[in-house]
Amino acid sequence: MIRRVESWGRLSREPHDWRPLTDRQQAAVAIAGGRGLVFGNGRSYGDVGLNPGGTLWSARGLDRFIAFDRQRGVVECEAGVTLRELIAVTLPQGWFVGVTPGTQDVTVGGAIANDVHGKNHHRGGSFGEHVESLELCRTDGQVIECGPGQREPWFRATVGGLGLTGLITRARLRLRRVTGPWIESEVLGFGSVAEFVQLSDASLADWEYTVAWIDCLASRGQTLRGVLFRGNHVEDARPLPPRRDWRWPFTPPLSLVNGASLRAFNALYLWRQRAAAGQRSRQPYVPFFYPLDGVADWNRIYGPRGFYQYQCVLPPPDHEAATAELLELIARSGSGSFLGVIKTFGSRVPAGLLSFPLPGITVALDFPNHGEATLRLFDRLNAIVQRAGGRLYPAKDACMPRELFEQGYPRLADFRAFRDPGLSSQLSRRLLGD
Ligand SMILES: Cc1cc2nc3c(=O)[nH]c(=O)nc-3n(C[C@H](O)[C@H](O)[C@H](O)COP(=O)(O)OP(=O)(O)OC[C@H]3O[C@@H](n4cnc5c(N)ncnc54)[C@H](O)[C@@H]3O)c2cc1C
Repeated sequence: MIRRVESWGRLSREPHDWRPLTDRQQAAVAIAGGRGLVFGNGRSYGDVGLNPGGTLWSARGLDRFIAFDRQRGVVECEAGVTLRELIAVTLPQGWFVGVTPGTQDVTVGGAIANDVHGKNHHRGGSFGEHVESLELCRTDGQVIECGPGQREPWFRATVGGLGLTGLITRARLRLRRVTGPWIESEVLGFGSVAEFVQLSDASLADWEYTVAWIDCLASRGQTLRGVLFRGNHVEDARPLPPRRDWRWPFTPPLSLVNGASLRAFNALYLWRQRAAAGQRSRQPYVPFFYPLDGVADWNRIYGPRGFYQYQCVLPPPDHEAATAELLELIARSGSGSFLGVIKTFGSRVPAGLLSFPLPGITVALDFPNHGEATLRLFDRLNAIVQRAGGRLYPAKDACMPRELFEQGYPRLADFRAFRDPGLSSQLSRRLLGD
């Protein structure tokens, strides 16, 4: 079936030969001898999950649970199961995913292929650290079972492997124990990059999750306006209150994100959060981990031209200065979006050859697509990232230069040996040459 497919950033809507996979055994046969790319749930922002003009094998239909060891907290499921579906099964039994990104609508396969990170990098690392094993089907017909200690090079290449080593059909995941669906959280204001780093570091001993939101229009030098959220799972088995989610109903003809709407929203949001600074509260896990999931299709607010997300990580020793420089440049450009996210990454070694996290500060911001003007701004941001020895996150990327990718991912040469020649994406053609 020919279908126009877009990624989360909605920068393009090109036709693809769309082939749903629904049965695990038949999936291996379906891709054998073919050329294409696997599609998860389309939550990557740029082109890592797109293959315009070619085949997309949709793995979302591989959505069965295979086994759940309630004593050990180990679940085995097909790769098209979403984290939302997974949590719905395991949380009532006292188990939660070891790492979760900012949306629960990603598939297990997509979370492995981008080795996604969450708000607990210091303690939990990235998603791949919690995978005990996975099954990989290659387009030459090989089926490879791999994991830590088991055909491990295949595992290291597939975790964070951008969907280029084969189709992941199933995975066994280690979960973390929780005592209920509630999070105890606290919000604290900060006024500079250094203060943000101090607050984050000071939170590590007692808080599992930390993340900060910043006003992307308000950075000047070291001055920064933001709030840090920190949270812990808490012993509280009360059932959650009913939740009312919304759907953004239409695509406006122009982006609704502009200088005036940004200033108003950011000022109001930060004022409200800062008013609550220092107070602890209990909230259901969903608004804590997934605040954006409350409005389905929110990505339409950027209008028909879509938007980019720019996410980089800046390692020491220049991480604080580079973050300040980057944020000031964004503020002066008057671009950016509602609230940017900054987090610190710890020093855990990620499972994948191409995993994104590095120790340091990661910054993530959305930008309405203003064509050349946006790309020119990215060139200047890229120069800061390159100088600081940092890298960009392929899961969010639609335009990084190949040189920056090669510099940022020094294990690329090792990775190439594990590529499946039948798999290719718009991103791989841009950054790996095929
Ligand atoms: C609101 C929002 C918040 C987010 N927050 C975070 C965050 O905090 N941290 C973070 O790390 N990311 C974050 N992301 C990005 C998201 O977690 C990743 O892009 C994730 O990989 C998307 O998964 P997906 O199932 O939608 O896969 P897709 O986007 O469809 O595909 C992603 C890649 O995985 C490959 N793939 C998918 N399934 C398989 C499979 N079965 N076998 C082999 N390859 C496969 C695809 O080929 C592609 O290369 C966020 C995204 C959104 C929209």
